[in-house]
Amino acid sequence: MAEQPYQYRRRELAEPDWRRLPGWAGVTRAEWESAQWQRAHSVKSVRQLREVAGRGLTEEFLADLERDQRERATMSMLIPPQMVNTIAPSVPASSAEFTSAWYADPVRRYMLPVFSDRQPEWPSHPYAARDSLHEAEMWAVEGLTHRYPTKVLAEIVPTCPQYCGHCTRMDLVGNPTPSYDKHRFSLPREDRLAAMLGYLRATPTVRDVVVSGGDVANLPWPRVEAFVTELLSVESVRDIRLASKALMGLPQHWLAPDVLAGVARLAALARSRGVSLAVHTHVNAAQSVTPLVARAARALLEAGVRDVRNQGVLLRGVNDSPGALLDLCFALLDEAGVTPYYFYLCDMIPGAEHWRLTVREAQALQSAIMGYLPGFATPRIVCDVPYVGKRWVHQVVRYDAVLGVSYWTKGYRTAIEAGDQVALAREYPYYDPVHLLPEEGQAWWRARAQRPAGRVPA
Ligand code: SF4
Repeated sequence: MAEQPYQYRRRELAEPDWRRLPGWAGVTRAEWESAQWQRAHSVKSVRQLREVAGRGLTEEFLADLERDQRERATMSMLIPPQMVNTIAPSVPASSAEFTSAWYADPVRRYMLPVFSDRQPEWPSHPYAARDSLHEAEMWAVEGLTHRYPTKVLAEIVPTCPQYCGHCTRMDLVGNPTPSYDKHRFSLPREDRLAAMLGYLRATPTVRDVVVSGGDVANLPWPRVEAFVTELLSVESVRDIRLASKALMGLPQHWLAPDVLAGVARLAALARSRGVSLAVHTHVNAAQSVTPLVARAARALLEAGVRDVRNQGVLLRGVNDSPGALLDLCFALLDEAGVTPYYFYLCDMIPGAEHWRLTVREAQALQSAIMGYLPGFATPRIVCDVPYVGKRWVHQVVRYDAVLGVSYWTKGYRTAIEAGDQVALAREYPYYDPVHLLPEEGQAWWRARAQRPAGRVPA
């Protein structure tokens, strides 16, 4: 065979040895595989990270991290040992290369952002917003976003076992940071969940419910099971997807016998009612797919869920090359039985510019990965356009690559556009990172930033 731009080869998964980290040198396999142990030992502060890494991480790195937490972070620090262990997986903490390996590492780059990672001139896009997708504006009832005609997103819990630096729901999810307070639900959880079910019973045009958050792994399993059981009693609901990054960040949760037994009950009930029950996860780097993650994904499939799918986020320095995306997709598909599904462009939240790619770059990546994976497992790279929804990156209708503005259309009205006569004819803008534009475009944005009320390019 001729040499290919990407050379496929099957790679055997390996669980990195957590005992290379001084703080976990004495941790047994039984402890490591316990969800309770993982939650109790999740890293929540620079001090705890120092204890885990010993002298492996330099004071400069830790100060860089601390400064980011203080001045830029939109998410507080929370990272389970399982994920920490996948950072620089083959470098011992005693190695002189340890800190530089951490700086360069894809998982570190999005889970533990440091101040020096951020874009210095434009850390945030001028149009960045806390709830950049306007999900709360589209709440039919508190926490239930009704954006598309036939599907809804149910935010049943506002926390996760891990907090990702680029979280699109940074306005709602997690604990406040020094720079960002968090929106708090006003209704008690039981009232919210009851209102969601009431809305769905009264709205038979909705057939598809994403049960999300946050991460469903952070709600006690009996409550998740009770909610999904109720959902399964709504005649019009035909698709249910449970969203959990913990399948990768805390696979121990999904491997717990009580959780798996509950998943099996739900899967059997869904099957008996002709409803498709799937799990959606969020993996961004091939090294995150370890034997434990694969075991958890396959256990869910064996318990009877119809599919486990991955929705990653396209992030610079993490997975922004065809090789990185294909390595990840093959690891998921071949070793864990997880179907690659979407990669989202990183949303326009504050502090995200160093992660974001231009639409042009995303189009090039989509073209480059075509033809290697089976069609059903070739992920679509999508831009989640505010007030529109997910659009495949090649669906852009107009693109000003100098000012970095792409324009998109849609064929439906969101829940807040019932009386909007031009919603279907309107072109909705999305913005590339300013620092990646040609000099002319950057100059335009700099000049605009100096005017009191800047004009939106049209
Ligand atoms: S797991 Fe999902 S919801 Fe939770 S912090 Fe990460 S991106 Fe946000």
